[in-house]
Amino acid sequence: MTGIDHPEWCDRLHCTATGHAGAHRSAPVTVLPGGNIHANRYAPATDPAMTFIEIRCGTTLLSPEVAHGLGRVLVGLSRTADGDSGPPGGGTS
Ligand SMILES: [Zn+2]
Repeated sequence: MTGIDHPEWCDRLHCTATGHAGAHRSAPVTVLPGGNIHANRYAPATDPAMTFIEIRCGTTLLSPEVAHGLGRVLVGLSRTADGDSGPPGGGTS
């Protein structure tokens, strides 16, 4: 009904695309359960093929464990953005 074409990875609960403004977003991946660092795929509404990785975090100091987790999430998201349809966040140890 909206006439907007969403990328297949777009999570409508997090999408703000209106056609000329906003952005498509995948469901956010939380780096650690209960953590305040989240990442997701992002594409501007005006160019859904231009994919970015969006990071939202409440801190800039990371413990080594959290930094490792963030790295895994980013690798997983970048793989899905490159066309790998695997789950965001990696899925392997
Ligand atoms: Zn969308």
